[in-house]
Amino acid sequence: MKDRRTTALLSVLLAASLAVVTGPLPAQAVQDEPNQVRGLTVEQRDGFATLAWTPVEGATDYQIERTPVADDGTATGPAVITGVWRPNRQVNNSSPTFADAGFNPGARFQWRVRARLGTDPQPYSEPVAGKTNDPWGDPSVPGQNLRTQWETTLGAQYTSDVDEYAYTAAVDELSDRVRVTEIGRTVLGRPINMFVIGHPAPPATPEAVAKTSPLLINCNVHGNEPGDREACFILARQLAFGTDARTIDLLSHTTVLIVPTINGDGRAANTRGNSTGQDLNRDYSLIRQPENAAFVRMLRDYRPVASYDGHEYGNSSAGDLPMLPPRHQNVAQSIFDESKQMIEGHMYAEGAEAGWWACPYGCNGGGNVGLSEETILRNTAGLKNVVNSLLELRSSGGATRPDEGNTANNRRRKSYSALWTFNQFLDYHRANLPSIRTARAESITFQVSNTGRIVFRGSRPIPAYPSPHPGEAPPPLDAPREELILDNPPCAYKLTEEQYHGERTDGPAGQGTTVAQRLASHGWKVVKVADGYVVPLNQPERGLIPLLLDAQGVEELVGGERMYPTVTGRHTGPLVVTGVTCLRDATVTGPVRVRPGATLIATGSRITGPVDASGAAGVLLTDSTVVGPVRIGQTYGPVVVVDAEITGAVEVSGNRGDAPLVAANTVIGPLSCGGNAAAPDDLQLGNSVTGPTLGQCASR
Ligand SMILES: [Zn+2]
Repeated sequence: MKDRRTTALLSVLLAASLAVVTGPLPAQAVQDEPNQVRGLTVEQRDGFATLAWTPVEGATDYQIERTPVADDGTATGPAVITGVWRPNRQVNNSSPTFADAGFNPGARFQWRVRARLGTDPQPYSEPVAGKTNDPWGDPSVPGQNLRTQWETTLGAQYTSDVDEYAYTAAVDELSDRVRVTEIGRTVLGRPINMFVIGHPAPPATPEAVAKTSPLLINCNVHGNEPGDREACFILARQLAFGTDARTIDLLSHTTVLIVPTINGDGRAANTRGNSTGQDLNRDYSLIRQPENAAFVRMLRDYRPVASYDGHEYGNSSAGDLPMLPPRHQNVAQSIFDESKQMIEGHMYAEGAEAGWWACPYGCNGGGNVGLSEETILRNTAGLKNVVNSLLELRSSGGATRPDEGNTANNRRRKSYSALWTFNQFLDYHRANLPSIRTARAESITFQVSNTGRIVFRGSRPIPAYPSPHPGEAPPPLDAPREELILDNPPCAYKLTEEQYHGERTDGPAGQGTTVAQRLASHGWKVVKVADGYVVPLNQPERGLIPLLLDAQGVEELVGGERMYPTVTGRHTGPLVVTGVTCLRDATVTGPVRVRPGATLIATGSRITGPVDASGAAGVLLTDSTVVGPVRIGQTYGPVVVVDAEITGAVEVSGNRGDAPLVAANTVIGPLSCGGNAAAPDDLQLGNSVTGPTLGQCASR
């Protein structure tokens, strides 16, 4: 039975809200309504509208109502509750916002918002009407007028492989800013394309792109999670043909890399895995599948400094946009911190402005997700010194988006939320490149120092974000178990000929590869010695190496032999290096001579006296101090001199292997490089040199 007073009050409220729809009331009368939402504004964005209003004290939540209207404002369809705002949506509840989405871009609507106290609805706000933004691009401008299959069918169909190739080729053809490159092929032979976008034109080679500190978006690894991929096509068009100042500015300062479809076979079949059933987001370390191998080679060559990896997430109570940084404990602290800052410092704050609900993956009753498998791109990329995040799009509308029973509405909300995120990612990179680059530099110098324990599996904690939300339910702690921690890291792993060159049978039939090929795809330095192959840990991807080459690894590639230091502590007098000599935390007072065919691996050491290597198998000198000249010549294997402090002349010449890594060093004296088969590589970290820089190391 109803309380009479309540009934009477409801009639008054009902009459008042009907009056708001049918004709304007004097403003004073509207404002007199208790608990009525005031100050509603609606801002049109690409594929969504940001609603903002003044909060009602004590409101439990708010309902967002949308009504299709004609140009003259008359309703052309029923009013529908399209959104429910809850206080756990955003970091700043004093300025509530809601990204209303799902509609067909270009349509005209009227919006109203009302608070609820408990479950009792309060009066609606005054309505605000407006036309939503048309799909991006002027229909009369070539290039801008391209549309994907998904756009032309109004979300009824996803863009097929055939339509993707046509659209991609058209963007490539019509824009000087774009080069589309095929980075590899799927198991079934579909091309894996990448947009390379810069202004006025993208740099010509991967090496030249790497110098621009590029950023990367991987759009669709799980074939049955296509929402981000559609956003990527639209983003590519915006970047290729946008004439606004922001787009030009972004592309004048970096290169944007977009891989729309790494898993073309899975997309065509709408399956999570590739054609062999392999989940490709569990293969970025082992790279058994050609798709992953192609992607990892691209990372090696293009060197993005930041990335996003797009997914959809089947948890209807989660936020709109669950995100997560690389958490594996072997990821450098600087990469974890900067990735977390990008998510919590930027995306949470900007989400609260635009109305999207970003939250840590898992988000709300998410279960056992977001863990430390190094096979997942989020973690693999972190272990490759890339600031990055996972992006999930909540796959169903759930309680907070109740009008997504309509499939097209659901698809549009997801893809336009991804488009917003990727554009925010570009803005973050543009505004914060110095701190991203610093995080990368600190990560590389940490990794090459080969210090600290190795964790085979285990995550850094993601604490709950300070109330109110968005982080009331962060992902599980996922601390490493005792037996998955190695406190005393080796200095290298040794592989036998059979381990290194034997054909693997863990890939697709007929597409077998060797460990040698896979380590080369990762870009790791390997020293050929008399009785096998040595993979030193003092190189930039140190955190990933043991996960593949140690028998204790949870998903190891091959169980290599751990090699431990041979020289530690004090060594007085000359040191002659024969075989493989590993210095760790050693103090050598006297010259170091590396004999032909020998290998020096030195970390955390101090050498007083010249270091002289001629015809060595490999020389890796990192996180060390040398008082005296350093001369490395005629090496036939790897040369790595990173984060060393050298007082004396440094000469790197006539080396015959891959590009010597000469990076992040402080040289008090000249640095000269000449006659190396490949010019030395400074990993975009530079060197601090007081004397002249000469030859292949000359400052340009
Ligand atoms: Zn996924």
